[in-house]
Amino acid sequence: MAVQPHFLLITYPAQGHINPTLQFAKGLTRIGVLVTLVTSLSAGRRMSKTLFPDGLSFVTFSDGYDDGLKAEDDRDHFMSELKRRGSQTLNELIVDSAKEGKPVTCLVYTMLLHWAAEVARAQHLPAALLWTQPATVFDIYYYYFNGYGDIFNNCKDTSYAIELPGLPPFASRDLPSFVLPSNTYTFALQLFQEQLEQLSQETNPKVLVNSFDALELVAMNAIEKLNLVGIGPLIPSAFLDGKDPLDKSFGGDLFQGSEDYTEWLNSKTKSSVVYVSFGSILVLPKRQIKEIARGLVDSGLPFLWVIRDEQNKNEVKEEEEEEDDHLSACREAILERQGMIVPWCSQVDVLSHPSIGCFVTHCGWNSTMESLVSEVPVVAFPHWTDQGTNAKLIADVWKTGVRVVANEEGIVEGDEIKRCLDLVMAPGKTGEDIRKNAKKWKDLARDAVREGGSSDKNLKALVQEVGEGCF
Ligand code: UDP
Repeated sequence: MAVQPHFLLITYPAQGHINPTLQFAKGLTRIGVLVTLVTSLSAGRRMSKTLFPDGLSFVTFSDGYDDGLKAEDDRDHFMSELKRRGSQTLNELIVDSAKEGKPVTCLVYTMLLHWAAEVARAQHLPAALLWTQPATVFDIYYYYFNGYGDIFNNCKDTSYAIELPGLPPFASRDLPSFVLPSNTYTFALQLFQEQLEQLSQETNPKVLVNSFDALELVAMNAIEKLNLVGIGPLIPSAFLDGKDPLDKSFGGDLFQGSEDYTEWLNSKTKSSVVYVSFGSILVLPKRQIKEIARGLVDSGLPFLWVIRDEQNKNEVKEEEEEEDDHLSACREAILERQGMIVPWCSQVDVLSHPSIGCFVTHCGWNSTMESLVSEVPVVAFPHWTDQGTNAKLIADVWKTGVRVVANEEGIVEGDEIKRCLDLVMAPGKTGEDIRKNAKKWKDLARDAVREGGSSDKNLKALVQEVGEGCF
């Protein structure tokens, strides 16, 4: 009797990695694959609304930072403990699963956990990287470390200096922040280098990308030596293909939210609300928060704004230092007049609400895919890592939004935010074109995941290849 395929998945313990991994896991269980999903104890404890389907087992391990990684912690030590303890957990799970008659047949790991590939090689298992950013960004890192490194150092904002095979021309603001000469996160760049070195040791290196062929076909095929495969968008089924109408959230939120915004959203007219969120990691300077508040208030549009508790704590710290200010007063004014602030929400749910007219986003890749699938126009407000590249794709390639321009101090002023909101939300050619493009990409995203679509086929082919021992 053929062995049931059993995928062992390990995800880096951050929201932007957990969400797509959970969706990938659910997609596998839907086609009869057993899945064991592994992450750190600290993340596992915080995952509040976890609803796992049959066939999905969830395992956590202590990485030594069970109360979560704090800003003052030594990141190198954290990463090495994650590797040491994570490798041990994977090894044990592989051995135990075999004993239980459910042998692991493939190991999939998210970005930053490339050491998992070593575990797979030692255990003679096929492994694949689940890349949670666009193929375009993967290619940029690849080129950076494979012959194009020098030209990145000469890239200037004003001139489109970077030409890379198969990719649109880039200015420095369009590149992942880690490849810029100004990068201070050298450890991050090193991790991407190690990731690529790991892949180069595979006989049939496979990179599963949370994207789809129609969106990034050229980028997906740009690197001959590596097999990039689009399996996305990895979004809860109810908001995408409806294969599982009960699948209405990722199911792994690390933050506590409230749902009292639903009634408020229900009270608003169609496409009238601006949704504002900067993801799960970014903490903005207080000056920037104030400018956003000003832009939103001046726009006159209703808005739903996610401000995580960490942001509030940061403000308290800044306030103590500077003995300044009025943001809380400003918040009250905002609340009274036209908006709502929440500490967290179900973003996929919010984006699919008919009252949402636009998304002011930091352009994290998940948020980018979620806006695309929901047909919501974007005001792209990137900060670091892959976000500048994602903003470039949104504004100049897919043309589903506009991008803010920061002042010389790196702050996006209220007037600029209002200008972008007007462009996207007010009647006019720019907004119309953006809405037309948003509809086109939403349809293509849905096509990719439906039965027989490119991502659906790629996922099934992966499982088949694993079953046939082809990689
Ligand atoms: N998210 C959410 N509620 C919020 C803010 C974010 O559910 O209030 C989710 C969002 O849907 C996305 C993830 O958190 O799936 C954030 O990932 P992304 O890649 O956009 O940004 P990151 O947090 O990694 O910077």
